Amino acid sequence: MSSTVRSVLALGSNLGASNDTLVLAVADLVEPGNVRLHAVSPVVRTKPVGGPDQPDYLNMVIEVETDLGPYELLAHCQAVEDRHHRKRTVRWGPRTLDVDIITYGSWTSHDPALTIPHPRAASRAFVLQPWAWMDSGAQLDGRPVIELAAEAGDLAGLVPFEGV
Ligand code: AMP
Repeated sequence: MSSTVRSVLALGSNLGASNDTLVLAVADLVEPGNVRLHAVSPVVRTKPVGGPDQPDYLNMVIEVETDLGPYELLAHCQAVEDRHHRKRTVRWGPRTLDVDIITYGSWTSHDPALTIPHPRAASRAFVLQPWAWMDSGAQLDGRPVIELAAEAGDLAGLVPFEGV
C-alpha cells in the first residue's frame, strides 16, 4: 500500500479571468487516485509584492492528500501552470497562474528546484492568511500560521475577494 502525504499548495493569478483560472486550476490539480482535495481556502485579492507595476492578484491555498512524491507533485503543478498558458518571463512579473508547493507533509528540502517549506511562505500574507482561514490550527516552521499572517508586511493589501 502506498503512503499518502498532505500538502499545502498556493495558487495565484493576476492576468486574464483570474477567478475562473483559479477554479479551473483547482479542478486540474485534483487527479483521481493521485491528488485528492482535502481543504480549500477563500479567495483573496492582494496587492503585488515586488516586481514591475502590475494588476492585483487573486490568491488562494488548497490542501491536498497525495500519493505523488514531491518532485512528481512539482511536475504536476507545473503542468497545470502550463495548461493555463503560464509563461515564465519577468521574475515576480504578472502571470495567468502560479502554483507553489508550500509544505509537503513534514518533508523539508533546500534544493533550489524544490525548496520545502516554500522559502517565502512564512512572510507572505497572500499565502498565510487564506491558509489560516482554511485551517486555523496550521503551523509553519513551528509557529501558528495565523500569527505569521498577522506579522506579514503585505497583510494591509489583502481583502477577501467578493466576486467580479
Ligand atoms: P515561480 O516562477 O515563482 O513559479 O518559480 C518557479 C521555480 O521555482 C521553478 O524553477 C521551481 O523549480 C522552483 N521552486 C523551488 N521551490 C519551489 C516550490 N516549493 N514550489 C514551486 N516551485 C518551486
